[in-house]
Amino acid sequence: MNSQIYSLFGEAQERTAAGRAPTLYSSLIDDLGQLNFADADDRRAFPPTLHSTLARHGLFGLTTPAEHGGLALPLQEAIDLISATASFDVSAASTLVIHNFLALPCIEAAPHIPEQRHVMRGATRGDLCAFALTEPGAGSDPRHIQASAFMHEDRVRISGRKIWIGLADWARWIVCFARASGPYAKGRFVCVLVDRQAPGLKVTHEHRTLGLRGIIQNTLEFQDVEVPSAYVLSRDQDGWGAAASSMNRGRIGVAAMGLGALERAIQVAASYASHRRLGKLRMIENSYVEQLFERMVLRREVVKAMLGASCRLISAQGAPNVHLASATKVLSSEWCGLVADQCVQLLGGRGYDERTPVAKIYRDARILRIFEGPTETLLSHLGRCLLSRATRDEIADLFLSLGAAPVHAAAIEELSGLNETDGAVLIYAGWLTTLGLAQAVMSAGCFSASDCAAAAADLISSELATLRSRAPARPSFERRINASRILNTFLQDAASSIRSPVLTDDYLKLAQYV
Ligand SMILES: Cc1cc2nc3c(=O)[nH]c(=O)nc-3n(C[C@H](O)[C@H](O)[C@H](O)COP(=O)(O)OP(=O)(O)OC[C@H]3O[C@@H](n4cnc5c(N)ncnc54)[C@H](O)[C@@H]3O)c2cc1C
Repeated sequence: MNSQIYSLFGEAQERTAAGRAPTLYSSLIDDLGQLNFADADDRRAFPPTLHSTLARHGLFGLTTPAEHGGLALPLQEAIDLISATASFDVSAASTLVIHNFLALPCIEAAPHIPEQRHVMRGATRGDLCAFALTEPGAGSDPRHIQASAFMHEDRVRISGRKIWIGLADWARWIVCFARASGPYAKGRFVCVLVDRQAPGLKVTHEHRTLGLRGIIQNTLEFQDVEVPSAYVLSRDQDGWGAAASSMNRGRIGVAAMGLGALERAIQVAASYASHRRLGKLRMIENSYVEQLFERMVLRREVVKAMLGASCRLISAQGAPNVHLASATKVLSSEWCGLVADQCVQLLGGRGYDERTPVAKIYRDARILRIFEGPTETLLSHLGRCLLSRATRDEIADLFLSLGAAPVHAAAIEELSGLNETDGAVLIYAGWLTTLGLAQAVMSAGCFSASDCAAAAADLISSELATLRSRAPARPSFERRINASRILNTFLQDAASSIRSPVLTDDYLKLAQYV
C-alpha cells in the first residue's frame, strides 16, 4: 500500500499537468527551469529575466479579463500556474499572488478611476502592483489600522506608515488602505490607488527576512500624500470590503504556493532517498521512511483537493467562501512547513546545506503560516464562527454543501460546555472546523481523482484523533496563574543570569519599532 501511494505521486503530477492550459504550463516550466533562484535569493532580488518571463507568459493578468489584456483563466488554472511557479521559487509565486490576487482585483473593480483601462493594461504587461494594509500596530487584526485618509471634495490626503509591504519599492502602483476622515468620508476605511512616485510617499526601510528573499519587502511612509479623489478605489462602499475580499483570494493563492513548495520538497527528498543507502537497503526501502513519504504525499493530496473544492465553490458562488479559504490556507501552510521540515531531516546534512533546494524551501515556507492571516488568527476566527450563534449557520451551510452535515453537528456537540471566549478553545474549535472540512472534502469524492483519497481520509481521521487527545480542558484559573508564574520566574532569572546577547540594541529597536 505504502509504495503504491509513493509511486502514485509521480503519476498524479502528470495527470494534473495534462488538465492545465498545456502549452502555457509547459513553456512556463521550461523557462523557469532556466533561472537560478538560489543566486536570486543570495542577491535578495529576482533576476530581471524572471519579470520578463512572467510578463511574456501573461502571468501578470492571470484571471484578469481579456479586455484588460489579461489571460482570463479560470481560477483553478491560475492556481495551478502559481503552484508550478512556487515549486521553483516561492518568492516568484508570491509576486504573482500579491499582484494578481491582492492588488489587481481592487483596481479592476473600480471602473471609475481615470484611465482604468490604461492602468490595467500596464499592470497586465508587468507594471507591478503592491498591497499595503499592514501597519506596526495592525497586523493580524488589520481593522486597527491608523493610517489616515482625509477626504476633501477633490483629493485625499494620506498619512501613516505601512510595514512589510511586498514588492513596494519595485511597484508602479500601491493599493493602500487607510482610515477615512473629513467631510467627504463615506465609510470607515478607504482603499486608494497611489502612484509609487507620488510626492510624500517614501520607502524608508528594506526588511531582511528569513525567507522570501527574492522579492523586496518595505516600510512605506505616507507623509501627507495627496491623491485626486478619483483614485479612491472603494468609491461607493467601505474599503474594508475590498480588503476582505482580496485577502480571501490571497489565502487561496498562499495555499497554492504551499502546495507547489510542498511538492518540490517531497520530490527532492524522494530522489535522495531512492539513491541513498542506509546499510544494505536504499533509504526509501526503510519502513519508517516509506511511511513518512506516504503521509507527506497524502497531505499533498488533501491540500490539492481543498484547493479544488475552494475553486469549485468560487465558480458556483462567484466569490471565495471565506471559511473554506481560511481552512485551506491553514492546512496548506502548516503542512508545507511540516513537510519541508521532514524533508530537511530526510536529507540530513544535505538538507541543511544551501546547495540543495530544501533549505531554501524550508526558509520560504515559514512565511506562509504568517502572512494573509497567521494560522492562529484564522483558526481562532473559524472557531468563533463555528461557536457563535450569529455565524454558526454559515459554517453549517458549508458542511451541508459538502454533504457533511453530521461532521458539523458532531463538532458542535463536542464543543458544548466549553468557554466560547477562551483563546485555547477557539483555536481548538478552529482546528476541528479545518480538519472537519478536509474530511468532508475528501469524503465527497469529487474533489480528488486520486486513488489514495481513502488513505488521505484516514490520515485526517488520525489527525483528528491526535487533536482530540489534546482537547482543552475546562479552563482552570489556577493553571493559568501557574503558567504566568513560571514565565515570570524565568524572565527574572534570565535578566540576571543569561549572558547571551538576547536583548541586543537591534532587538530592542525592533520591539520599540513595532
Ligand atoms: C515577508 C512578509 C511579507 C509581507 N507582505 C505583506 C504585504 O504585501 N502587504 C501587507 O499588507 N502585509 C504584508 N505582510 C504583513 C503580514 O500580513 C503580517 O505580518 C501578518 O498579518 C501578522 O501581523 P503581525 O506581524 O503584526 O503579527 P501580530 O499581529 O503581532 O501577531 C503575532 C502573532 O500572534 C499570534 N496570534 C494572532 N492572533 C491570535 C489569536 N487570535 N489567538 C492566538 N494567537 C494569535 C499569531 O501567532 C501571530 O503570528 C508581510 C509580512 C512579511 C513578514
